[in-house]
Amino acid sequence: MSRRILTLALDTPLDTVFDYRWSSPTDESPEPQVGQFALVPFGRREVVGLIVDIKLSSDVDEAKLREVIALRTQLAPVSAHWIALCRFAAEYYQRPLGEVALPCLPKHFRAAKTVALDRALKKLDQPAAATTTVTPPSRPSLNQEQQAAVDAIAGTTGFQTHLLFGVTGSGKTEVYLHAAERLLNAENNPENNRENNQDDTPEHRGQVLILVPEINLTPQLEASVRARFPELTVATLHSQLAEGERLRHWIAAHQGKAAIVLGTRLSVLASLPQLRLIIVDEEHDPSYKQQEGLRYSARDLAVWRARQLDIPVVLGSATPSVESWQHAQRGRYRLLPLTQRAAANAQLPRVGLIDLEVQKAPDGLSTPLIAALRARLERGEQSLLFLNRRGYAPVIHCDACGWISNCRRCTAFMVLHKPERRLRCHHCSLEMRVPVHCPTCGNVDLQPMGRGTQRIEEHLQVLFPEARILRIDADSTRRKGSAQAAFESVHRGDVDILLGTQMVAKGHDFQRLTLVGVLNPDTALFSQDYRAGERLFAQLMQVAGRAGRAGGHDGSAPASEVLIQTRYPQHPLYRAVLAHDYAGFAESTLAERKAAGLPPFVFQALLRAEARTLQDALDFLQQASDLMTAEGVVLNEPVPMTITRVAGVERAQLLLESASRPQLQAFLKPWMHALRQLKSRLRWSLEVDPVDI
Ligand code: ADP
Ligand code: ZN
Ligand code: ZN
Repeated sequence: MSRRILTLALDTPLDTVFDYRWSSPTDESPEPQVGQFALVPFGRREVVGLIVDIKLSSDVDEAKLREVIALRTQLAPVSAHWIALCRFAAEYYQRPLGEVALPCLPKHFRAAKTVALDRALKKLDQPAAATTTVTPPSRPSLNQEQQAAVDAIAGTTGFQTHLLFGVTGSGKTEVYLHAAERLLNAENNPENNRENNQDDTPEHRGQVLILVPEINLTPQLEASVRARFPELTVATLHSQLAEGERLRHWIAAHQGKAAIVLGTRLSVLASLPQLRLIIVDEEHDPSYKQQEGLRYSARDLAVWRARQLDIPVVLGSATPSVESWQHAQRGRYRLLPLTQRAAANAQLPRVGLIDLEVQKAPDGLSTPLIAALRARLERGEQSLLFLNRRGYAPVIHCDACGWISNCRRCTAFMVLHKPERRLRCHHCSLEMRVPVHCPTCGNVDLQPMGRGTQRIEEHLQVLFPEARILRIDADSTRRKGSAQAAFESVHRGDVDILLGTQMVAKGHDFQRLTLVGVLNPDTALFSQDYRAGERLFAQLMQVAGRAGRAGGHDGSAPASEVLIQTRYPQHPLYRAVLAHDYAGFAESTLAERKAAGLPPFVFQALLRAEARTLQDALDFLQQASDLMTAEGVVLNEPVPMTITRVAGVERAQLLLESASRPQLQAFLKPWMHALRQLKSRLRWSLEVDPVDI
């Protein structure tokens, strides 16, 4: 009977790993392996942990060690590469290894009972049900730029980051699909699994990971991928999958059965033993940044993973993040430009600005925009209106006494949701009926101020009673599957005017759209957040890119147009949008950042604290700041966060900056250790490379 000490990473905030005793139940029992999972007692619970080391003896008193309950032998161990990825993320983002490695696994897999796991494995073993015959997909022949990009990617041996800088509608998807196909079919693919030897060699060789920013974009891409690779297994990974499904897809990826894995940011942490290529679509998108728990950038981890595996990674965007642009300028990333729209005769839309100082827009829509909408209705073409504010009005107020609908738990307004007749706080989810009279003075005439998507929708219905108007935002798509159904109705042509928030701005390939109207983008110009301009520019280019994608074969493609309503038509950001000039915008943004000493010219980390009183939060941060100093790392004054109070909790932050990433990292590790020793009862968290400051 063999005995071992197993070291496990467990999902706990304690920054350590844990030793357990293991002895084989019978002589034939398989030996434990690093990378396997095991069920162990932890306190009064039983939890699943990851085996990171196997030893003959422990440094701690072995008599005190507890016994492993069971090994999860049903699955092959995760690869050394996967553990290294988790270790890197843990070190870089300053989290315990177990809090990185375990939470990214499907819930069912971490359950004490293995029923769900056994069921999933059984289901995966059954031969797949005969798939309904897919109509052979249209397979456009690549244009020169697309071909050059595919050749560059597929011709890469070893690690290389490619920045696929393709204007909207330039056919980036085709480049991804062709590159994936080339890598999966590559002659020189080693037959043997790169990093672990699983017995069941799948029929195909290699795996491709495709990351998309939005769940809503997965169905369209998934359909293209399945149609293009009908013989391959495609797995999707995102947070809307049912747990059972998620487990099956995760296992398919882990077993190497899924040749293509398509998912949102969390899929960058999937176990992919035969990974050959990573694609990050819309790499600039803020949703690649996880904002709670392990605050990681999926884009950055994708690049790290590719480097570690020595494989190519493709970052695609019409508006790359300025960090990526800088890397490309410095030659670290290889720039692959797609300068033209791909579809025959499709042109980038003409962008126009509507000066709101000249053209009044009492109900949110100016006369020229209304005329442009009417012209599309008459021609039977689709229009899209983009307003990044949901609800009816961001606030209601009383003219008589000045009362406004503040949230009593947050430094924020309660938003009027008219169809539901409710006030809602978008920060803490507090809800109440709309008061029938002013809570302070009793005035019955409460007025909505400002405009959200619901109010614009109401106005559109009055202006165009005969038009089919569809609103897509977080409120209209609460039910599972409703967003997909809504987008499908747009694709079918059942909608004349589509109205929505950033949900409609991204990625979708709307074929019948010839007009995009942008309402109210100005607020972002004066934001405290230094990234607001970059985000707005990307958003405008993206939403503008939804127009005029179809083209036409006889050169008669309808002229497409983007109209932006603004009070600042001379603002350089709008001038750059007008000229479709990403490069100019990126260069001037980088110059400004350099002058102001902002990322990517400095590296930052942000310590946040939450407390009952603001003073407590600030005091904690000051205490943290006094713990240590280090050369080359600046600890700024603790300050209240912009939205200071959320759900009754006061929030403050402390920004750390350094010109050197290694110097910052070298400071963070011992500092975090010292912070943990404080054993403060306050909630606090650290974010490395923060995006919202
Ligand atoms: P992007 O992601 O770059 O915005 P898409 O990948 O959605 O663009 O492609 C835009 C449109 O161009 C799609 O309808 C696609 O089918 C079409 N397309 C892509 N490549 C070609 C090509 N080589 N020839 C003709 N049409 C193409
Ligand atoms: Zn009042
Ligand atoms: Zn609130």
